[in-house]
Parts: sequence; C-alpha cells; structure tokens
Amino acid sequence: MVPGNYRITTKVMVSILFGLSAFILNFHAINFAQFVEFKASILLGLLFPLLISLAWGWKFGLLSALAGGCQSMWWLWRTDGYGVFYAVPVFTLWILWHGIWADYRKNKGPTVKWYHSMYVVELIFRIFSEAGFYTIFRWLVSFNPPPWNPDIIWNHVSYSWIHFVVIKHLVTAYILMLIAHVLLNIGPFRKFFMMPHKPGQKSTTFVVSAFLLLGIFLWIIDSVVVHYAFSQSTDSLLTAITSNISPRDLFVRNLFLLVCLVSGLLVSRFLAERHAANQKIRELNRDLELRVHQRTVQLEETNKELEDFVYSVSHDLRAPLRSISGFAEIINRRHKSFLNEEGQHYFDNIVKAGRQMGDLIDDLLKFSRLGRKAITSENVSLDDVFKTAIKTLSDEIQKTDGRINLPEQIPDIQGDVTLTTHIFINLLENALKYHQPNLPPVINVSFEMKNQDVVVSVADNGIGIAPEYHEKIFNIFQRLHSQEDYPGTGIGLASVKKAAHIMGGRVWVESEPGKGSVFKIRFLTATTAQTGKAGIRLNIDD
Ligand code: ADP
Repeated sequence: MVPGNYRITTKVMVSILFGLSAFILNFHAINFAQFVEFKASILLGLLFPLLISLAWGWKFGLLSALAGGCQSMWWLWRTDGYGVFYAVPVFTLWILWHGIWADYRKNKGPTVKWYHSMYVVELIFRIFSEAGFYTIFRWLVSFNPPPWNPDIIWNHVSYSWIHFVVIKHLVTAYILMLIAHVLLNIGPFRKFFMMPHKPGQKSTTFVVSAFLLLGIFLWIIDSVVVHYAFSQSTDSLLTAITSNISPRDLFVRNLFLLVCLVSGLLVSRFLAERHAANQKIRELNRDLELRVHQRTVQLEETNKELEDFVYSVSHDLRAPLRSISGFAEIINRRHKSFLNEEGQHYFDNIVKAGRQMGDLIDDLLKFSRLGRKAITSENVSLDDVFKTAIKTLSDEIQKTDGRINLPEQIPDIQGDVTLTTHIFINLLENALKYHQPNLPPVINVSFEMKNQDVVVSVADNGIGIAPEYHEKIFNIFQRLHSQEDYPGTGIGLASVKKAAHIMGGRVWVESEPGKGSVFKIRFLTATTAQTGKAGIRLNIDD
C-alpha cells in the first residue's frame, strides 16, 4: 500500500510533469490524415492531461492541463487573434469535463451505465463546445486585429472553415480518447497510475497489446508492399514506414491501427466480463460449499442428539420392561390356575407383548450403539465374517433346513469387523426367515469387483419383495408382514444400511415377489483403500 500523502505528492508531481511534456509535444503536431484540401493533425500532447484526468480525476487533470498540457495553443494559435480566448480554454474545459466523469464513474462503481462512458459524454461536450465555435469564436474574431499583434487583420471566419474545424475536433478527440482508453487498459500503465487491478487484467493487457502490435504490423506490411511493389521513390524502407507516406496511405494505415485498437478494446472487455462472471461463479460455489458444510455439521449434530435420545430412552425403558415381563411370566407360571380361560388368554398376550417389546428395545439399542463405538478401518476377512455369521445362525439354519453356499474365495475388504459381521448376520437371518412356505431356504453368496470396490451379493430363494418397497425396507420400523406371519422388529435392515454407510459403503436390493431377493453391499477393497479412518468416504458412485 502506498501511503496517502506520498500518493498525492506523486500524483501532483506526475500531473505537472505530464503537463510540461505535453506543452512541448504539442508543438510537434502529428498528421493523422492529409488530403489536398483536408489535413487533420493531432495535438498528441493533449493525451497527457487526458490520461491524468481519466486516471486520477478532474483535480489532477486540471492541474496537468494548466501546467502546460493545454497551454501550448496560446502560441500555436496566436494567429487567431482574439479567437484564442475561446479556442484555447475550451481544451482545458475538455480535460476538466472528462475528469469529472471519470470521478463519477469511479464513485458509481459497477452501477455505472453505458451512457456514462467517456465516448458518450464526449458528445454532449462536443455539441456545446462546437456551438461556441460557431458563435463566440466568430464573434471574438470580429474584434481583430488585437493590440498585441496588429498584423492579424482577418476578422471574419467562414462557416465552411468552422465546419472543417468541428469535424477535425471530433475526429481528434475520439482518437485521443481511444488511445488513452487503450493505454489505461494495459497492466503496466495501470500500475504506473496506481489504478486498481481489473478482473482478468493479464488477459486484457495481453489482448490489447496484441491488437496494438497487429495494427503496427499491418502498418509495416502495408508500407513494405507499397514500397517494393508500387512505389518508384528512392527512399529507404525506414523512411517509407515512418515519414514519407502519401496522404492516402497515411489514412489507410491509421485506419488499420484504429480498427485494431477498437477490436482490442472490445475483445478485452468481453474477456474481462467473462472473467468477472467466472469469478462470481467461483465465489458463489465457495459460498455454497461453506453453507453445505455448515448444514452438514448441523445435521450431524442433530443426528447425534437423536441417536443419544434413542439410546437413552431404550436403555431406560429396558429395566422397567424387564420387571413387568419377569413378574408377568412368574404370575403366568405360578398362578395361572387361579385364572379362568379368558384371563389366561389375556395373560399369554401380556407375556408375548412383553417379549416382543424386549426384542424391540434390544434391537433399538443395538442400532443406536452402531455409531457410538469407535470404528476401526482394517483388513477384514469376509471368509471369517461368514464363518462367524453361520455359527451364530446355526439354530435357524437347522430349524429351517437351510443351506448357505459360499464362494471358494472371497476377497478381504476394508472396514470394521464388528459392523461387517453385523451386516451379514442380519442379511443371512432375513434370508433364512423370509423363505417360501414348504421350500427350505437356499442362500448363495457371491461377489464381483467393481472398479476399486467389491460388491458382495446375498441371494435367497425366498418370498421376494415388491419393487415399491426396495428402498423403504431400509427405513427403521418398516415391516411388510405381521408378527404372526414373520416375527421381527423392522430394525435389522436399517442397521445394515447404517453400518454400510459408516464404512463408506452402500447397500441395496434387487428382488421380485415370489422370485427371491438379492441384497448387495458395496465395500472398499482392502488393497485399494487409502484412508486410515473408516467412514471417510461417504458415497460410492456406481
Ligand atoms: P425385520 O426382519 O425385523 O422385520 P428388517 O429391517 O430386517 O426387519 O426387514 C424389513 C422388512 O424387509 C421385513 O419386514 C421384510 O418384509 C423385508 N425383508 C427383509 N429381508 C427380506 C428377504 N430376504 N426376503 C424378503 N423380504 C425381506
């Protein structure tokens, strides 16, 4: 950061220096185009106070204009006699006018409208200043000759001469503004003028400079072609390029340069707008990501609170329920004979409901404990997991006369051994439970590799599930059957889903009623898992 005082001193000095340079430069007018009856020259020095005005506003612009930038004309146009009192100050006003608008645009910032652009506000100035040439200037000239220069005897200006001057002013003003605009778009110039960095400054500088060079290149090419192919002059190539140029060629080459400058400005403006839009998108994305993160944290907290609640409720309900069930069973056993048949029936129901509620609470506790325990991420041998599961379910297998076919080899996965065992005990238990009446369950376990994951399938020949329930059955308490048909709590699959998610996996079902079901779980394979912590990966894409 440049300190404020130093900044102002620098600006004052540069403004004065620019003014003085401009003063000298104005004595070397540059021909823009030259015809027999028309010669348009540009007072290039005017560019200096204009640059100051556009970059730093009207105060510094005026200083630069008064320091010399717009004062050479007192000498240049002294032949106008009294006319200089209008012709010269009007240029200082021009610099002031653009400085005021530059300040206005700076203050307005992005809300600035197209009609605040210098090319548009210039028109207003032109109308008034040229009207002054038709009236005030002509009137002042009528007082000639002035006492300080009695040689000036002309005291009448023809309208045709004023028409010519007006056109010349218009053309030179726009050329000067265009050059200033181009320069103030180039990075190093902006830096010099301590102007703020524009969005996409690098590409703007690059494009504008490239088009400027293209204009110069076209100028040189045209000069070379004309010099070698069409010209009989004995000038050197350098002279043909820089000074001895025919009026027609001068006009054409300046046109090349102007078209290139305008194109450069337009392209760079388009790029800058695109850059700004991209920037905005990036900002919005960052904002969105942050909000998603905040929401996720909030959700996780709420989820945790809910799980804590479920855990403590089910935990606290267990003790009173146990005593209700226990005493009910004692009464049922010891004092059943005191009750009539109806009473015995009611008591049987109480005992049954007590047991059912006990199962429900146990399952709920297991479910909420799933996420509470520290989860490990290690190589888990599915072979061992299935052995444990089959051992745990040996009673059910025997009761249902079921068969479980395992593949010869199952790969290891990356995850938590307790959660994995929980998943397969639940899936195999369901496969054994939901078998077709009179058809012993046959369960086939298989696996397939998918990209870097392993998908394990547990397929049964059971009653199957209608497609509209394929997602719902993974919700807690979602059951499709009555207790009489198939006893259960509706928590098993919800806990399978939860366990799979904790390990960064996914579970789903493919099934049709009467045709069995295939439950599939996608795990990280042991060899490819990179993270040291389970549950880092939230979703696995198909
Ligand atoms: P529960 O078995 O205790 O009812 P689950 O969450 O394990 O609860 O299962 C939810 C529902 O999904 C079950 O009630 C059952 O209707 C259905 N289901 C689960 N596994 C199978 C299966 N292998 N075949 C058919 N239906 C199944």
